[in-house]
Amino acid sequence: MASTSTLPQVALLATGGTIAGVASTPLEQISYQAGVLPVERMLESLPGIDGVARIAGVQWGNLPSENITPKDWAVLGKKCAEILANPDFCGMALTHGTDTLEETAFYLDLVLPPGKPVVLTGAMRPATSLSADGPINIRDAVAVAACPAAYGRGVLLVMNGRILAARAAVKVSTLDVEAFRALESGCLGRVINGEPHFYHGNEHAPPLSGACAALTGQPELPRVDILYACAGMPEDLARHSLERAQGIVLAGMGNGSMPQRICRELRTGMTAGLPVVRTSRTGSGPVTPLEEYADFIPGGMLSAAKARVLLMLGLGTAQSDDAIFRLRHLRQLFAVGGKL
Ligand code: GLU
Repeated sequence: MASTSTLPQVALLATGGTIAGVASTPLEQISYQAGVLPVERMLESLPGIDGVARIAGVQWGNLPSENITPKDWAVLGKKCAEILANPDFCGMALTHGTDTLEETAFYLDLVLPPGKPVVLTGAMRPATSLSADGPINIRDAVAVAACPAAYGRGVLLVMNGRILAARAAVKVSTLDVEAFRALESGCLGRVINGEPHFYHGNEHAPPLSGACAALTGQPELPRVDILYACAGMPEDLARHSLERAQGIVLAGMGNGSMPQRICRELRTGMTAGLPVVRTSRTGSGPVTPLEEYADFIPGGMLSAAKARVLLMLGLGTAQSDDAIFRLRHLRQLFAVGGKL
């Protein structure tokens, strides 16, 4: 083992979630308070972590992630950019509640440079639980953050031994420790017994990593609403969003389809320059361009939650009052960001 002083240094930034959660007994796994333990206490549960990397714990906050907002993303993005600019750190890991981890991860992927590893992790069982999954996930995330092969891959997510790209990872389970998958593209690699293994090289920079760097730290992003399509969905839901939001993501049926009446409403938005992105509520598979919806923007591989993040940032980077120019810019962004 390398002597401690020669090990790479990784920042471990804690934001809250189940990984810092506390329940009343070790047998309680469902009912607990998320975001309680400070980062130092989490590190105490990791004997041997000092053999993986030198760790600098940073307490950013201690929130259940359902309360994280785009304003928090901005503060977090700025903090991460500062840490990454510090030559003392080879990379960073973040602990985060799993409920909105995929949104924060994709936001960071879009605003941070795709160089040093940024690795998010979380847990499905509170820190007090029998067989808590947090400690091993932190160990694995730190190992990936310290790994030269993780360089240049954009923001990553490590849970239950799998390494996933932020753009592709989605939460697919309410309770399983295997909570995240990249259903279409699969994982980038695995951490086996603490050692990261990537299946492919990092010669291709991940699409759009760092593409919205100009917006790092910007607290006010345009409002984008998600509409969940369902049989007989009332049109006034669409009207409500059209009157208030600057962009809409439709979690459509199947290949991004929608009832005709909803389509008519949303089309009025597109015609007025308000972008509407079609995604799917199915949870897997691409949403493709379709002739009957040619005016809408197809979300490709992006989930509705991720399409919302990209649309918020895309609207922020489309600095033009010209609606045609803005829509062209957004179409291009989604053609790249939603690609398989
Ligand atoms: N809802 C809480 C959160 O997202 C707990 C879920 C979790 O971390 O797994 O922070």
